[in-house]
Amino acid sequence: MLKIQNTLSKKKETFTPIKKSYVGLYTCGPTVYDRAHIGNLRTFVFEDILRRTLEYDGYKVKQVMNITDVEDKIIKRFLKEKKKNISEITKPNTKRFLEDMDELNIEHSEAYPLVTENIDAIISVIKKLIKNGFAYKGDDGSVYFDISKFKKYGKLARIKKVDIKVGARVSADEYGKTEAQDFVLWKSRKGNEPFWKSPFGEGRPGWHIECSALSMKYLGPTFDIHAGGVDLIFPHHDNEIAQSEGATGKKFVNYWVHGEHLLVNGKKMAKSLKNFYTLDDIKKKGFLPIAFRYFTLSAHYRSKLNFTWDALGAAQNTLVNLYREFAYFGFVSNGKKIQTESGEYKKYRKEFLEAVNDDINMPKALSILWRVIGDTLLSGHQKRELLLDFDKVLGLNMGFADELAIPPANVVKLVDQREEKRIHKQFVKADALRDKIEDLEYLIEDTHYGPFVWPKKI
Ligand code: AMP
Ligand code: ZN
Repeated sequence: MLKIQNTLSKKKETFTPIKKSYVGLYTCGPTVYDRAHIGNLRTFVFEDILRRTLEYDGYKVKQVMNITDVEDKIIKRFLKEKKKNISEITKPNTKRFLEDMDELNIEHSEAYPLVTENIDAIISVIKKLIKNGFAYKGDDGSVYFDISKFKKYGKLARIKKVDIKVGARVSADEYGKTEAQDFVLWKSRKGNEPFWKSPFGEGRPGWHIECSALSMKYLGPTFDIHAGGVDLIFPHHDNEIAQSEGATGKKFVNYWVHGEHLLVNGKKMAKSLKNFYTLDDIKKKGFLPIAFRYFTLSAHYRSKLNFTWDALGAAQNTLVNLYREFAYFGFVSNGKKIQTESGEYKKYRKEFLEAVNDDINMPKALSILWRVIGDTLLSGHQKRELLLDFDKVLGLNMGFADELAIPPANVVKLVDQREEKRIHKQFVKADALRDKIEDLEYLIEDTHYGPFVWPKKI
């Protein structure tokens, strides 16, 4: 049912899993030298939507997300800050990353393997690559992948053979398309850098090998979907293909899915450009983290999205309106049992299902959600049922709306007193009580069903 753009074919393809009702999903995780910025988080929200869509379609998903806790940037920081152990840098950042994920209502992966706890698995893949003739030891003592030996090297990014400098080597973890060359699998020990023992000498893994080793360990040699941001297509994902297929001789991944970048003033949000914000910056400005989630859903995952505070503010206002509508529908249908499955109800469910399965079209899914809210044929109860159903994919935490609609006891008391005065037509006293309630930051709307109370500001 799901159609998804596969970077490998550059086409929208119908998704067919390897095993019935089960999806193996690998998503490249964060490099924990610092905390994640909201550009990274856009990608993780997108991957969560992908996962939730698969679950909505009835699949059981096994998702694996690696935590890169040793690589160039981490070591640079470790040396600069003169730490005793790299974990002093990586541990707190991993913890904060997982907290960020929770604040964005991102479902947990089935595994978050750390690189430093999987050195054996990495060594075993490198050994296979040497045995199969794809890897060699350089004169600097490091082990490199020989890209000339892997005939389809660069197939994901469609790198032309002429771009590849045969025999040249790169030992940095990150490099660009123009530097396609033999890349490092195992870096020989240097100075005060952390190291592990291996059959190729003391050293540490290069960056790319971890994802081949960890996906193989948890998902097997061939699995269904691999996702990440577009910046990872080359070299990282092409290197993963070369390593995994070189080691196992089997096809690595059936569907490659890539999310576009979050931009600031038209440029990619990146640590190196110093144009980034974190979730803390968002909270400090008084925004809900989940408003950022809503903001990212306003664009298709394959479109660039420019971040501005105004746009985030607009997303938050829209989200708060959505919460208010949801709570209001609960208020008006409180206790009433109304039949759910009308023709109108089924029509919206079908439209939503089609939108999410059409290459995860979130802008369309949101437009359907707003049509449900404005529909005059659906009851409040039906609207709530639909919104709760849609929220399985959107993950906007609709339940929070009901929490917002329950004011604290002192406000409830004043609302009851005001009702009492209104019933007895003591309107001056009733108005004075309304003012008091407003001073406590709550607004009252009088409806056929009684007073609906909602926070002034969220
Ligand atoms: P890193 O921690 O650098 O390994 O990146 C983690 C994830 O964030 C990867 O999937 C990247 O592709 C993604 N990413 C990095 N920068 C951005 C950005 N500006 N917008 C969206 N995703 C990004
Ligand atoms: Zn990876």
